[in-house]
Amino acid sequence: MGFKIPCPNCGIRDVYEFSFDSEVRFRPPVDSDLKTWRHYLYFRKNTCGVQEEWWYHGGGCCEWLKIKRNTETNEVLEILETRADD
Ligand SMILES: [Zn+2]
Repeated sequence: MGFKIPCPNCGIRDVYEFSFDSEVRFRPPVDSDLKTWRHYLYFRKNTCGVQEEWWYHGGGCCEWLKIKRNTETNEVLEILETRADD
């Protein structure tokens, strides 16, 4: 499953330098019911197609990248955001 991720800090790098975290999700409000929390914690969309994901560049700049990737082709379509590892 090799593919490349264009890191804004390091350039085009092999995916094996990165760790996949998860698809982008939004935490529900604190007072949400159990069903909502269960869904947030345990269920993923697992999209076959374009989805937004978090990846960590541990083999490079040690920053988090929010990317848009086609999971069917592994084409990285866009780098949406970077965050420093705190
Ligand atoms: Zn990097």
